[in-house]
Amino acid sequence: MGQTFDAVVAGGSVAGLAFAAEASARGLSVLVAEEHDQIGEPEKCDGLVSLRGFRRYGHVPRGEVVQNTISSALIHSPLGKKFAVGAGTLDVVVLRRSAYDLQLADEARKAGAEIVTGKRAAAASEGPDAVSVDVGGETVTARYFVDATGPSPRLRRGIIPAAKYEVEGEWIRDKVVEVYLDAERFPGFFAWVIPFGHKVAKVGAAGYGINAARALDAFLADKPHRVIRRVSAPIYVGGPADRFVKGRRVLVGESAGQVKPTTAGGIMTSMAGAVMAARWMKESVVQGSPALLANYQRDWEARFSREMRTMQRMRGMFSRLSNPDLDAIVMAVATPRIVMRLSQTDFDFHASALLGVLGLQGFLRVAKVVASSEIRALVGESQTAVAPQQSI
Ligand SMILES: Cc1cc2nc3c(=O)[nH]c(=O)nc-3n(C[C@H](O)[C@H](O)[C@H](O)COP(=O)(O)OP(=O)(O)OC[C@H]3O[C@@H](n4cnc5c(N)ncnc54)[C@H](O)[C@@H]3O)c2cc1C
Repeated sequence: MGQTFDAVVAGGSVAGLAFAAEASARGLSVLVAEEHDQIGEPEKCDGLVSLRGFRRYGHVPRGEVVQNTISSALIHSPLGKKFAVGAGTLDVVVLRRSAYDLQLADEARKAGAEIVTGKRAAAASEGPDAVSVDVGGETVTARYFVDATGPSPRLRRGIIPAAKYEVEGEWIRDKVVEVYLDAERFPGFFAWVIPFGHKVAKVGAAGYGINAARALDAFLADKPHRVIRRVSAPIYVGGPADRFVKGRRVLVGESAGQVKPTTAGGIMTSMAGAVMAARWMKESVVQGSPALLANYQRDWEARFSREMRTMQRMRGMFSRLSNPDLDAIVMAVATPRIVMRLSQTDFDFHASALLGVLGLQGFLRVAKVVASSEIRALVGESQTAVAPQQSI
């Protein structure tokens, strides 16, 4: 190596590779270092996305990368109530993530990027015009270091343990994603079933403070199945980082917290971050002005910040709801009018969409449940606060 690049990228997954493809296509010289020996492996992600976002940012999944198309989502309450939302017009598909990452790597290489695997990269030192990067023990110089390394210790506050199995079972509905709410078994999150073919699904569970694999085993206990593959990987729901650009270091994707705080879905939001970062990096190189890169964060926030804040507020409320509250919310939302309108909204902006379709009556019903849960939490906190004094 020993060369100089416009950008050295740590992390060869969706954000790093999409960045590399975009930046190289714009004429920048890019090196991507991925710590694993093979791009896409080990595969953690379930790959549930709406194709609409790709029409905006490019890199549309091709051929066998798309494993399945989804027709509806079935939401189960803890006490067994359920409602279905049609997804036919939302263009929701399931990607084989490892294959999608390979597609992105191919696009990046064709655009001129160099990709090395089995090598870790880390920024070593930064000067006024360049940054030195350690790539598998060798020093490389770059104008910019792009950190696309996924969830980092910096973002610990938003990380939830999760487990995911690929399973085969007769009970799996071929085109229906299922979500199981249960504040006791999956506190602050849920269990999910994402079919990726005939009678096969990616089934997962996540929740604060739980042993996710044990929770998933218990969830699957009454569903006859054969496990094809097991994966344990944390999910991130803590919201975007405060700063995406610090000097010559640029965060993209999950390392910048570009992930939905409601569902932990991050493919589209990370892709958007990567594309915007590449566009502004080109501008900053052409004009010799690193300050221009700040526009990347401005553009990403203009598109996603409002939705992310709404999602974070919803997450805060959701994680305080009890099982009876969750049942009441499911009942409040499951009216034919709301369900019909939900099926015509936007998969990537579902929090604002939900608020938008609730209508006054639905909103009041949900607000009543949330308010009583918040009041219970407040009463609980005040009792805990006075308890030590009472015992003196
Ligand atoms: C169980 C699970 C299910 C998910 N399901 C969905 C879903 O259905 N839909 C959705 O939209 N999102 C989903 N996500 C989230 C999605 O996978 C991430 O948001 C997305 O992959 C983020 O991409 P990224 O490139 O920023 O980070 P990652 O995909 O985390 O990639 C980071 C890469 O950097 C590499 N790396 C780390 N450190 C270094 C280093 N120092 N040097 C070199 N390489 C390094 C890693 O090996 C990895 O390849 C899921 C996540 C999990 C864990």
